Amino acid sequence: MPGLEQALAEIAAEMAQRTDRGDVAGYIPQLSKIDPMKFGMAAVTNEGQVILAGDADQPFSIQSVSKVFTLTLALGKVGDGLWRRVGREPSGNPFNSIIQLEHENGIPRNPFINAGAIVVSDVLLAGHQPREAIGEILRFIRSLADDDTIIIDREVAASERATGYRNFAAAHYMKSFDNIHHAPELALGVYFHHCAIAMSCRQLAMAGRFLANAGRSPASGHTVVSAERARRIAALMLTCGHYDGSGDFAFRVGIPAKSGVGGGILAIVPGVASLAVWSPGLNANGNSKLGSIALEKLARAMNWSVFAP
Ligand code: GLU
Repeated sequence: MPGLEQALAEIAAEMAQRTDRGDVAGYIPQLSKIDPMKFGMAAVTNEGQVILAGDADQPFSIQSVSKVFTLTLALGKVGDGLWRRVGREPSGNPFNSIIQLEHENGIPRNPFINAGAIVVSDVLLAGHQPREAIGEILRFIRSLADDDTIIIDREVAASERATGYRNFAAAHYMKSFDNIHHAPELALGVYFHHCAIAMSCRQLAMAGRFLANAGRSPASGHTVVSAERARRIAALMLTCGHYDGSGDFAFRVGIPAKSGVGGGILAIVPGVASLAVWSPGLNANGNSKLGSIALEKLARAMNWSVFAP
């Protein structure tokens, strides 16, 4: 694609110079050890071009980016019935907030805040042992990325389980409203493990291809979800993908994207490309600081926006 390779190289070079890199997530001990100087970016076009820059082949903890894939799987299982248990509105609150749950009777605002993703994990547990549900999520992501080397970082999962007090609180609170159907510990086990999946920018951009291509893998033509469902998942990414920074991200970047506290962001240019960026330092909303800036620069350089023809 004309200009894409050069844009990526220039942005990566510029990001390498920056000293204002944000703060690495400190509340998950395993994540606090990551080198804040890391920066990677990948673009996979619908035509099959793969363009990489910086540390694009180094795996990192995808954390909440995994919620795009668990949502996709849960919708495949229970369809629109999911929306009886999870909302579709931006929360305007931090990713781990529990305040809204009390006002809204244990129904999380959307599937991308922690509480919503824990409900999605509970949906994926139905009829399974946690190990099977986790295996299903991993197999799904491997098949989307066309890469069987993707693994779960067990140390990150254990680190989160040992310190995830707010997630425990949210899961137990939702259980009191009957919105968690299994033992909260089991739903949390699935949740912590899918957050602990490690992927590189290349693998993440590959896994996001179906969303940029109306629900179908551009390589095999295989249908992952319907075109309508792909549009809806992208709409949720745009409105809720960056927690209480979602409005600002849409304003600045203008394409659907989902971030994680590991510093990764998966972004979609519908009809054009799937993008991934990683820089571990976070801004005040818990989104990758340089990752957001890099995507803003790339979208501007390529004139990409869902709000422009
Ligand atoms: N596993 C993280 C948590 O539950 C996910 C948060 C994120 O990536 O935004 O806190």
